Amino acid sequence: MKHDDNLTTERPTFVAHLECAMTGEKLPADTVQNLSPAGKPLLVKYDLAGVKKALTKDTLAQRPQDLWRYRELLPVRKVQDIVSLGEAVTPLIALHKLGDNLLVKDEGRLPTGSFKARGLVMAVSMAKAFGISHMAMPTNGNAGAALAAYATRAGINTTIFCPADTPEVNVSEIELQGATVYRVNGLIDDCGKIVGEGKTKVGWFDTSTLKEPYRIEGKKTMGLELAEQLGWEMPDVIFYPTGGGTGLIGMWKAFAELEAIGFTGKKRPRMVAVQAAGCAPLVRAFEQGEEHAPRCENAHTIAAGIRVPQAIGDFLILRAVRESGGFAIAVSDDAISAALSEVSRAEGLLLCPEGAATYAAYKQSLADGRVKKNDRAVLFNCASGLKYPLPLVTRALDRTQPIDFSRF
Ligand SMILES: *Cc1c(COP(=O)(O)O)cnc(C)c1O
Repeated sequence: MKHDDNLTTERPTFVAHLECAMTGEKLPADTVQNLSPAGKPLLVKYDLAGVKKALTKDTLAQRPQDLWRYRELLPVRKVQDIVSLGEAVTPLIALHKLGDNLLVKDEGRLPTGSFKARGLVMAVSMAKAFGISHMAMPTNGNAGAALAAYATRAGINTTIFCPADTPEVNVSEIELQGATVYRVNGLIDDCGKIVGEGKTKVGWFDTSTLKEPYRIEGKKTMGLELAEQLGWEMPDVIFYPTGGGTGLIGMWKAFAELEAIGFTGKKRPRMVAVQAAGCAPLVRAFEQGEEHAPRCENAHTIAAGIRVPQAIGDFLILRAVRESGGFAIAVSDDAISAALSEVSRAEGLLLCPEGAATYAAYKQSLADGRVKKNDRAVLFNCASGLKYPLPLVTRALDRTQPIDFSRF
């Protein structure tokens, strides 16, 4: 383990430019950017031929087991800008009892207990590099917690807005980790409008999903890691709980980059966007053959992380799902609760509701024939189940009374 190899020494980076995901317009990388002139997300483009020459699988195998091992495919140019809390490689856990070829990538092990750490460690490191002093964000909880943690570490002020019914633990952890958080009587996109106004009026940096180019690059590491963990063999199908879609878009980008640098072949997994029935704009758009997904009114679900009524990257999510031969699928809150209970009781693995939604979707897809039993399937559990309200247990034992041991 040569830790100083990626934390204290200079190293070459390969970012070429940024590109509008809709129009293809090119923009320079080494300056602060939010959306493209067309108002669409910007994607980071690399000199992949350069990466191919610089990086081998063997070199990679020598490096520490953290997200920075993929530095040639990441945007941070100077090591001193890296703001780390220990972004460990997350385990792939087989569900032996519930499937023949079923794996869970357990993202709850990351700093702040969710995979939002992957995106925000990158966005904040880049903000530090650019000398940004005040970041703002709308959040359903986990993204705000990750932003708060990393921005505080980097000495950047942070203001965060979340829907009033955001899980209590999220609101508390955001505040405790040094940000100022407000509960807003609206949904995440209503919070996003406030951030947009603050950007115009007082110059906040807008850290909303896909409104800056680097969160995708962090989330992309899920795909890089997954491929490496599977010996550079792609799984058959990936079930991803989809809100803003950063992770799905990021993984799809990662798979293209891995093929371009010769690490993987042509095979790509089918990407399945999993949404909650109470908030499934992408499922409707997928089924109707649309490129964009209109806002879902009255969005509601217990899976707070995927309660996103409208996603600015809708066209990128739908494009990835379609190109991959995958699909979008909705599951009810009842199915999510049942899935959560089934996986914890059968396998001893506590999922978050969004993660449980992917297992519910997997079962539904087996039943309707869209996925086969022997397909190698990967479910994403994107946060620690411990961050969410858990069922009450009322069973008690009175030790002053005789105990009937036959009843245990
Ligand atoms: C944010 C979040 C999601 C959705 O992720 P996107 O990449 O934004 O679609 C899913 N699950 C959890 C737990 C989350 O916090």
